[in-house]
Amino acid sequence: MSDPLAYLRTELDELRAQDLLLHPRTLEGPTGARARFDGRDVINLASNNYLGLANHPRLAEAAAEAARTLGAGSGAVRTIAGQMTLHRTLEERFSAFKHAAAAVMFQSGFAANAGTVAAILTKDDVIVSDRLNHASIIDGARLSRARIAVFEHKDADHADRLLREHEGAARRLLITDGVFSMDGDIAPLPALVEVAERHGAIMMVDDAHASGVLGAGGAGTVDHFGVHGRVHIQVGTLSKAIGVLGGFIAGPAHLIEWLQNRGRPYLFSTSAPPAVVAACIEALDVLREEPERLARLWSNTSVFKEGLHAAGFDTGASETPITPVITGDEEATQTFARRLFEEGVFAPAIVFPTVGKGSARIRTIVTADHTDEDLREALEVFGRVGAELGLV
Ligand code: PMP
Repeated sequence: MSDPLAYLRTELDELRAQDLLLHPRTLEGPTGARARFDGRDVINLASNNYLGLANHPRLAEAAAEAARTLGAGSGAVRTIAGQMTLHRTLEERFSAFKHAAAAVMFQSGFAANAGTVAAILTKDDVIVSDRLNHASIIDGARLSRARIAVFEHKDADHADRLLREHEGAARRLLITDGVFSMDGDIAPLPALVEVAERHGAIMMVDDAHASGVLGAGGAGTVDHFGVHGRVHIQVGTLSKAIGVLGGFIAGPAHLIEWLQNRGRPYLFSTSAPPAVVAACIEALDVLREEPERLARLWSNTSVFKEGLHAAGFDTGASETPITPVITGDEEATQTFARRLFEEGVFAPAIVFPTVGKGSARIRTIVTADHTDEDLREALEVFGRVGAELGLV
């Protein structure tokens, strides 16, 4: 029988030949600062579990209780019969968390970004986007059919020039990640906000890696920079620091009502199950009641960064718990990650096409749950393996 999908085999063979096929490791137990992957107990520097909430007993109990009393699924999309009291409660809690008038939940951060950009722009519009913005922003822009104008990373003057160039567009959206996921640097939000205001553009920030991490109580970059009321659209994810799953848009009531009527993932995809929503609500309570988690995340971050610098590693422009260890060479980086794992430290190699050619790196993320001993041991392994491979 002929196989009309045979071309995929050819493509896969090409990826295999270039060593670009993905082989994700398998977690054989709960996530945590120490976890078991592929049969090995390791110090886990690979997760987005910033505050240690993904494995927090209170969240697990809230999820179990919601499943026991409300069942496993919501039963439908929000707009048909899948809206539960829990969804509305979480949205109210999230808008307060973000100091916004209203908020709407999506099934993931990806759906929140892509669904929102696609819902508010058309082919007559322009999206001015940081070169390192997340894939879900790019996909949303493509779905909207708006023109995409890319500015150099964190370059507000370049964004300004692009907005001027596209003065004739019906609407212009200036969009940036709050914290960049592969470099751990922070967007120059005050400068971008000023540029957006000068042009009357919509300002949107994707705080996937900033929610629960930056700002008072983890409110995000808008709070971190004190630009409340000047960013029209704040994106949040529930999948990283909040520890569960889902995405959010927070903003003015008319934006949220529009997304409830035109946001395609909201309209056409089933809402989150009760266990997920209940665990997210509990997470916001824990975040408020255990502020020491946020403090610990940041003290661990500085200890780990200082240790890497002292060992002679290049951590690029990182300012957050995401700390890349930049080695440059693709093959050396893969070997580095493999040797770290063998020595009991899991931190993934990030290579082209996720980052540019020649800027391959190991990406590390410390969490509030890492102990002093975890960090000491991880740094010892980094130093030893780095020296063994001639990287420091
Ligand atoms: N935006 C950024 C910057 C991200 O890093 C991610 C997750 N990789 C997302 C959005 C998507 O979030 P989620 O995992 O909740 O879909």
